[in-house]
Amino acid sequence: MRNRLVVANWKMNGSLEANARWAEAFLALEDAGCDAAVCAPSVYLSQMACLLKGSSVALGAQDVNEFESGAYTGEVSARMLAEIGCSYVIVGHSERRALYGDTDDRVALKAKAALAAGIHPIVCVGETLEEREAGETIAVVSRQLEAVIGKVGAEDFARCTVAYEPVWAIGTGKSATPEIAQEVHAALRAELTKHAAELGDKVRILYGGSVKPGNAASLFAMPDIDGGLIGGAALKAQDFYEICTAH
Ligand code: PEP
Repeated sequence: MRNRLVVANWKMNGSLEANARWAEAFLALEDAGCDAAVCAPSVYLSQMACLLKGSSVALGAQDVNEFESGAYTGEVSARMLAEIGCSYVIVGHSERRALYGDTDDRVALKAKAALAAGIHPIVCVGETLEEREAGETIAVVSRQLEAVIGKVGAEDFARCTVAYEPVWAIGTGKSATPEIAQEVHAALRAELTKHAAELGDKVRILYGGSVKPGNAASLFAMPDIDGGLIGGAALKAQDFYEICTAH
């Protein structure tokens, strides 16, 4: 049995005041009844750690450097994230792959660094529209997934979460249909099962890409969709809550 996990990816949004208002509003609501996490910009992680202290909402970061420490100006290490209270970190988000040169290999190293610091990586995979139209979806997501499993090993991958995020659905308002998403999630789960039956059973596969309160229930009803990674709709506490509790 995999518990639903819903993760907010705030991207480069927020302010001290807006974050405090979000936390106050979200924590005033009934328990969301699922595992929930907020991945905030790194400068706000300590603020969010204080605001979420004692609640059931976990803290996450949006990226991590693959090295332990050293001359990497502007970067943040996994140990630092762990020290500040992060239990999750997103690695391989398509925006980082497209805009900041994150290769499959670097994403795998980032996941490995996170695991070494005791943080659960949320490994994002997903195809572009061009790749989908060329019939390459499963090959692309399998390659992205295998790069990480190959580097961290199947045993440690059990501490990872996968997020299937079709690039064409991110921030576009055009979510994948539940059927399209389920097809890819099932293929990803089969890939995990090839390594170990336990991996297929245990690892949560989240869907991300224009999830909103209105479409979350139908997506989450699919057998291989274990929750969501939510961008735009997670900026409003009420919308994020409605996604967490969608049935
Ligand atoms: C994301 O960036 O991870 C994402 C899913 O964004 P949105 O929900 O805005 O499509």
